[in-house]
Amino acid sequence: MQVGRLFTRRGLKWAGVAGTLLAAGLFIVSAWWYVGYARYDQNSGLDRRLVLANGGVYARHAPVSPDDRPAVAGGEGAGGGSGWIARVDARHRVRFVPSVTISGGQYWVFMPWWPVVLALALTTVWLWRFDRMSPDRCPHCRCNLGGLESAFCPKCGKPTGREV
Ligand SMILES: [Zn+2]
Repeated sequence: MQVGRLFTRRGLKWAGVAGTLLAAGLFIVSAWWYVGYARYDQNSGLDRRLVLANGGVYARHAPVSPDDRPAVAGGEGAGGGSGWIARVDARHRVRFVPSVTISGGQYWVFMPWWPVVLALALTTVWLWRFDRMSPDRCPHCRCNLGGLESAFCPKCGKPTGREV
């Protein structure tokens, strides 16, 4: 059993494709929508939220704007509340750079989502390319040797690099 065979399984290749499409889909959602979960504390006027927005993920513990408060279920009640937020972000503003701001117990952290999409896409391309280059294929014409133990490729006649 060659190590390469473990990584050339069809499942892994298609999982890479699915993961890339999912990540790209989340990126598109985050560019158009503001989706996440918030917990609003009425006493401090701060909320903690984790949202998908602006082409990335926001985590923050900061004052909430009055516009946002009604969107948080129970946010108007005594002591505050928590709930899901989902609305279209009319600005469609995509940010590409991570940022971290910490100030007096409050924080704003933004992580762009595009590096995740890129990493998955590159891994998937590599997986598919690796499969094409697998030891089961002729290094010259890449035809499938199908486990054939031969020093020469039956299709192009060039050396397969195998010891027979
Ligand atoms: Zn060949």
